Amino acid sequence: MTGFVDAADILKGRYEEGADVKVRGWIYTSRSSGGIQFLELRDGSGVIQCTLNRRNIDETTFNEVERYPLETALELKGVVKKDERAPGGWELRVNSIGDVYVSQQDYPIVKKEQGLEFLMDNRHLYVREPKLQNIFQIRAKFLEAARDWFREKGYTEVHTPMFMTASVEGGSTLFNVEYFGRKGVYLSQSWQLYAEALISSMGKIYTIAPSFRAEPSRTRRHLSEFLHLELEEPWTDLDGIMTTGDRLVSHIANVLGEEIPEKVRKAGGDPDYLAGLKPPFPRMSYDDAVDTVQKQGVEMYWGDDFGWQQEGPLTEQFEKPTWIVGYPSGIKPFYHMPNPDRAEVTMSADLLAPAGYGEIIGGGQRVHDYEQLYQRTIDDGLDPSNYAWYMDLRKWGTVPHSGFGLGVERVLMWMLNLEHIRDTVPFPRDMRRVYP
Ligand code: ATP
Ligand code: MG
Repeated sequence: MTGFVDAADILKGRYEEGADVKVRGWIYTSRSSGGIQFLELRDGSGVIQCTLNRRNIDETTFNEVERYPLETALELKGVVKKDERAPGGWELRVNSIGDVYVSQQDYPIVKKEQGLEFLMDNRHLYVREPKLQNIFQIRAKFLEAARDWFREKGYTEVHTPMFMTASVEGGSTLFNVEYFGRKGVYLSQSWQLYAEALISSMGKIYTIAPSFRAEPSRTRRHLSEFLHLELEEPWTDLDGIMTTGDRLVSHIANVLGEEIPEKVRKAGGDPDYLAGLKPPFPRMSYDDAVDTVQKQGVEMYWGDDFGWQQEGPLTEQFEKPTWIVGYPSGIKPFYHMPNPDRAEVTMSADLLAPAGYGEIIGGGQRVHDYEQLYQRTIDDGLDPSNYAWYMDLRKWGTVPHSGFGLGVERVLMWMLNLEHIRDTVPFPRDMRRVYP
């Protein structure tokens, strides 16, 4: 057979009732009742109900289809029908069958409750579940929306190495790699250092690439490999970069809420909220945030970083994502610019998502002065010689610049109200899991 259509297009009503179409996919569910065989066919775009009526199809074909195990892949030709009883309101009344790729019996993933560990061990099969398929499609749309926004606003996408010799976000989450027998090589935690070299080459830039963190704790919102959307802009200060963040995050939310509301709802999100999210986002000083958390009775001292114990209660009442501005120097990496009026805090800001989700962006203004950067490196207990090329950037045409890093999985988790970060990614990596 040739000329196949997508299940999703039938479900969107793109084909008139009575239209002859061909579909192909995998049998997701199968049951028979009263001389009719009901198949739910999953084709990558969605799941469409296909029915075979004993009266309209030859006996041998009907009996064969009845015996096909789940996940058998096949081609079907039939007529499109609107039917309220079918999931999604449309079905295909099958009149002939093309190629068939018969599956083995006993597909391990069954429709009844199965333990988390079992499902994670069988993730290579579990990724076929429509629930996950839907989230992965939303994730793709998310990235498309981000790239559209960057193109429209004049940013260029660029990629930087994953193997590097310096720590960016602190040594405790560095992954060592054995690099041709050489020590002192790590997996990238952020594109930060390279981005600052590239702004003098390309101007406003962004990347969408994995970052690696040896996160020693098991939380609902940390992966050891995550997709990091980072941007860096020359001639931009802290205020400017927060405004950029407001617009980017709102744009992505609006696209998801307006263009794929059904998918968002199916995943657990609220498309109306996303469609209605508008900049600017509120801003709160780090000092006020600490006060608020203390008043809530949660233990925290000025100078501490927020963990989930603090960000949870702090963001519970937020309606929009909110910037926390001006973190103490001691808890921000050396490249953050100290506040000229108040040296103990930095020109930094993290964006915290509402409803307990917490940090989704970390960013701010960078040190552009050579002497100041040198001092910050020493103060942070780092060896400036490890950052020689990075320091060099301040010698030739250094300008004020700012940027941020956004965790794609974190934002998805918040936008879709997910309980755990793991389902935003097909094969999540954490402390305990690198298989499959
Ligand atoms: P956290 O305090 O939550 O560990 P962080 O301060 O280490 O975050 P940054 O170094 O500022 O995070 O990284 C920028 C963004 O990348 C974060 O705001 C978050 O969205 C995302 N991110 C950081 N670490 C992880 C991780 N281990 N898993 C998933 N996303 C992450
Ligand atoms: Mg971290």
